[in-house]
Amino acid sequence: MTIQAGEANAGTTASGTSSPDPDPDTAATQLSATRGGEKQGLAERIALGLFILVPFAALLAAVPVAWGWGLGWTDLAIAVGMYFLTCHGITIGYHRYFTHGAFKTSRPMHLALAVVGSLAVEGPLVRWVADHRKHHRFSDKDGDPHSPWRYGESLPALMKGLWWAHMGWMFDEEQTPQLKYAPDLVRDPAIRRISRLFWLWTLISLLIPPLVGGLVTLSWTGALSAFFWGSLVRVALLHHVTWSINSICHAVGRRPFRSRDRSGNVWWLAVLSCGESWHNLHHADPTAARHGVLRGQIDSSARLIRWFELAGWVRDVRWPDAQRIAARRAA
Ligand SMILES: [Zn+2]
Ligand SMILES: [Zn+2]
Repeated sequence: MTIQAGEANAGTTASGTSSPDPDPDTAATQLSATRGGEKQGLAERIALGLFILVPFAALLAAVPVAWGWGLGWTDLAIAVGMYFLTCHGITIGYHRYFTHGAFKTSRPMHLALAVVGSLAVEGPLVRWVADHRKHHRFSDKDGDPHSPWRYGESLPALMKGLWWAHMGWMFDEEQTPQLKYAPDLVRDPAIRRISRLFWLWTLISLLIPPLVGGLVTLSWTGALSAFFWGSLVRVALLHHVTWSINSICHAVGRRPFRSRDRSGNVWWLAVLSCGESWHNLHHADPTAARHGVLRGQIDSSARLIRWFELAGWVRDVRWPDAQRIAARRAA
């Protein structure tokens, strides 16, 4: 099976590398961009469970805790700042650039996007990209790692499927083969290193808020409350917003464009998802740098890419023009 031509090409051009291909079998064992292999072990599953459950428990505890010792402006500013920094790291870096090659950029920016995306604590870059390319390859058919329609169309089946698409799929023993779906990234030594250092980016991401909070307030309680809001609650919220693209945006929403799947545009997630919830257009035109193409559709990621383009930081941006958009309209 092959990746859709557009995506595979886009991915290759994005990496900017052209090292000679080693034998695929030996390469698969030598070139692993994550510490785990092609099978998910028990320890990996436990670690994953902790990273999902602990921030989520923090989210549930957030309200009573706020009443207990307050939520200050400093905490809010740090949490919002870290949220949108890392959200755009995922949407512009991991997704639009590394997965789909929506634009080209310089080597330093290439590496910076890999690091900022990693700060979102959504897994090593290469694993994320491989899973997501596989999702586009099979979207809502057999082989899609996270379709809410996996168990059927009845309401109980959809409820079960939504849970699967939201987070259950991550516990699947089968892992997407990285060399098959992300060969361009696996063969880039620096990207492989960044991807393997995922634990370090996680640590940095969790430590920035208490460090800033502690320095601003010059107190340990300031550091602690910044850690609570800016690290735990922020990570939990971004996790659930990202996962909602896989679950909610494949179950409901408007479908003004033709796509091979059940992807929908969900307006109320647009701001929090940094423009990714215009998911129907995304599946209709995966390499486009803008997902919110219709009037009034907020897409902060596209806005930032445009600013980067004006600043000369990115080039060859695949902006969807009017003709391209019209050609993808549903009948
Ligand atoms: Zn999708
Ligand atoms: Zn995509």
